[in-house]
Amino acid sequence: MLWNEIEGAPREKIEEVQLARLQETLKRVYELTSFYKEKFDELELTPSDITSLKDIEKLPFTKKQDLRNHYPFGLFTVPMSEVVRIHSSSGTTGKPTVVGYTKHDMDVWNEVMARVFTMAGATADDVVHNAYGYGLFTGGLGFHNGAETIGATTVPVSSGFTDRQILLMKDFNATILAATPSFALHMYEAAKKTGNDYLKDFKLKAGVFGAEPTSDGLKEEVSRVWGIDYHEVYGLSEIIGPGVSSSCKHSKLLHINEDHFYPEIVDHKTGEVLADGERGELVITSLTKQALPIIRYRTGDITSLHRSPCECGRTLVRMESIVGRVDDMIIVNGVNVYPSQVEHVIANAEGVTLNYQIIADKKGHLDKIDILVEVSEDVMSDSIPEMEKIKKDIQQSLANNLYINANVKLVEPRTIERSMGKAVRVIDKRV
Ligand SMILES: [Zn+2]
Repeated sequence: MLWNEIEGAPREKIEEVQLARLQETLKRVYELTSFYKEKFDELELTPSDITSLKDIEKLPFTKKQDLRNHYPFGLFTVPMSEVVRIHSSSGTTGKPTVVGYTKHDMDVWNEVMARVFTMAGATADDVVHNAYGYGLFTGGLGFHNGAETIGATTVPVSSGFTDRQILLMKDFNATILAATPSFALHMYEAAKKTGNDYLKDFKLKAGVFGAEPTSDGLKEEVSRVWGIDYHEVYGLSEIIGPGVSSSCKHSKLLHINEDHFYPEIVDHKTGEVLADGERGELVITSLTKQALPIIRYRTGDITSLHRSPCECGRTLVRMESIVGRVDDMIIVNGVNVYPSQVEHVIANAEGVTLNYQIIADKKGHLDKIDILVEVSEDVMSDSIPEMEKIKKDIQQSLANNLYINANVKLVEPRTIERSMGKAVRVIDKRV
């Protein structure tokens, strides 16, 4: 089932809508912000020069730093009386980025989140347990509004208080779980401790997961332990929040709501636009935003676009699950390595946990890479042949799949340095 007709519209129709909305957005930013006006003037461009979607490549990029430079409301194109909602990123590095929404922007957000839930098979008959954090972070309220828009019974539990969450999930007969994948797994572990046969007491059938980089291994584990369909949701507050794209039940690729968010993939060094199927940095232009329209925003996320038809009937372009971050990527002897790819290999290995650390260093002129991996509690034994085999298998798999020769070192559980509860993924001693 589709939420909006446009999701299954012919390509020409989608492109017609995109171009009209792009031209409107360009007029808006050119007339209402000095930031874009100056950028366009530098390139000797006016909105009327953009007459095809291909022309978007002539436009300037917008970076996270541009939002910070105009903190808090400098890039808004409406008076504050029209802004009905503010969200903000945590700002762990420098000033936070602040985003605003008009009533119309909220309608767009609710609509794309309604599409996400519909894509996951949810209807008004479902009970949505929303364990995303509520607050300035867009997760909680984004999923909340989408669930209400489709008419589902929405339970705004927010994050934390795991034991109470499990109790409510069971007693309220939750059918759809909205959470980060790591919290879903954490809840399972906690539920397991609360009693026998607990799984038969839960009515969960699907989950909408996102907000953190997740390996295929972790996704499969969440899906397996809860016995539910895994639907991935992608988004970022600078564009709208969750709801930029999500996966249907037919494939792992995520349908982009491209009638609202125009996607491009660019080479993150040269900015050159890449072809469908090629991996590069995802760049998004908002097509319908009023409070904070954004042109060619560099997301820093690495993915690729795919236009092959999908069995669900949606014609929206699809993206693969984020492969990594531009900032996280390290180059080892000329090979691009993303922590998420390493994580995928580790997730498929026996006897180890997903706590690992990649250490890049120099040995003479060459790069060398060590990967520390914590073994599972039940494996830490004195069996040297067993440990050797685990280590060799991971090294072999890294060489076969990622073309890197890494030295894998198995370490005891909970020995890798943690930051905010997570193992620190990359240490690059070469820089
Ligand atoms: Zn589909």
